[in-house]
Amino acid sequence: MLNFAMGPVQLGEKVREIGTQQVPYFRTDEFSSVMLENERLMIKFANAGPGARAVFLTASGTAAMEATVMNLFSAQDKVLVVNGGSFGQRFAELCNIHGVPSCEIKLAPGELLTEQHLNLYENAGCTGFLVNLHETSTGVYYDANLISAFCKRNGLFLVVDAISTFLADPFDMHALNVGAMITSSQKVLACPPGVSMLILSPDALSRLEQQSVKSMYFDLKDALKNGERGQTPFTPAVSILLQINARLNELEVAGGAEHEVDRIATLATDFRERILGLPVEIASPRLSNAMTPLHPLHVPADRVFQVLKNEYGIWVCPNGGELREKIFRVGHMGALTLEDNSILLDAMNDMNRRCLL
Ligand SMILES: *Cc1c(COP(=O)(O)O)cnc(C)c1O
Repeated sequence: MLNFAMGPVQLGEKVREIGTQQVPYFRTDEFSSVMLENERLMIKFANAGPGARAVFLTASGTAAMEATVMNLFSAQDKVLVVNGGSFGQRFAELCNIHGVPSCEIKLAPGELLTEQHLNLYENAGCTGFLVNLHETSTGVYYDANLISAFCKRNGLFLVVDAISTFLADPFDMHALNVGAMITSSQKVLACPPGVSMLILSPDALSRLEQQSVKSMYFDLKDALKNGERGQTPFTPAVSILLQINARLNELEVAGGAEHEVDRIATLATDFRERILGLPVEIASPRLSNAMTPLHPLHVPADRVFQVLKNEYGIWVCPNGGELREKIFRVGHMGALTLEDNSILLDAMNDMNRRCLL
C-alpha cells in the first residue's frame, strides 16, 4: 500500500528496520543518551531557544494536548480556544473536563481565523490561547504571526498544537513567543503512533512551578525531572523513541528542519499543480505543506477513499462527520517521493476516465 494518509504516514527504511529489532532494556546510560539527544534535537528543530525543555509521553497526540491543559492552566485562567474543526473542539472539551474557563472562537469548516475574530477579544482579560495551528480535520492552516502578535499584545500564554505542521511548515517557537508546542510521532516525524512530545519554553516551566496537577501519568514536573538524566518516570515506547532518534539524526544530517520543510513543500506543490485538470477543488483558503484537502465535484469524497484503497492500493485520508461526503485529504508527509505523487495522480486520472472522480 502507498500511504498518503495523515498519520500514521509512509515509514522510511531505517524506521521500519528498527521496528523489526529486539526492544532493548532502557534504564541504561545508552538509552539515556538517546533520550538526551532526542530532547536536544527537538528543541533545535523547533527553534525553542535557550532554557526550553522537551518531554516525551508514551501516548498519542491528544494526551499531550490533555497534559498541557492539565499542567499549564487552572480554574484561575481564562483561555481562548480556536475551534475550527474536530481538533479545536477537542481543546474546548479538554478545558471543560479539567475545569479551565474558556471562550471559543468558533469557525465554520474551511473558515480562516482573521484579525476581525481576534479584535473581539482585545483586552478581554484572557490569560491563555489554545490553537491547532494546522486544523487537520479541514486543512485550514492559521496565520501564526497574526496569533502570536495578538498574544504578545495581550500578554497571553500561547499553546500551539503543531502536530501536523511541525517540520512541514516553517516554525520558530522562540520568535513567535510560543509557550508550549505539541507534536507527535506519527506525522512528519514518520514513526509509528504512540509517542507525543511537548516543548516547553522557560515561561511554561515557571508556570508549571506554580501549579500542581492531579495526575500521576501526566505529571509534567515528574517527567521533566526524570528527563534531566535522559529517563522517563514509566516504561516508555522504547522502540518508537529509538525510531524518533534515527529520524531526528537523519533530518540533522540532511540539513535540519528547513530541509524537511522544503522537501515536503516540493511534494505538495507538485501535487497541487498536477491536479488542476481534475474535477476536484482545493477545500481550504490557506494550506499547510503537510496536506491538500480536496472536494470532489461529482462524487462523494468517502467513495474516492474507498476506490483508491480497494482498487489501487493507495490510502488517502477520508473525513468524518459532516465533511464525510465532501472532503478527502491527501497527505504529503513521510517517506513519499515525486514518483509516488505520479502513482496517485495516475490513479486519480484513471478514476476520472471511469467517471469515479
Ligand atoms: C493528528 C493530530 C492530533 C493527534 O491525534 P491523536 O490521534 O491523539 O494522535 C492532534 N491534533 C492535530 C492537529 C492533529 O493533526
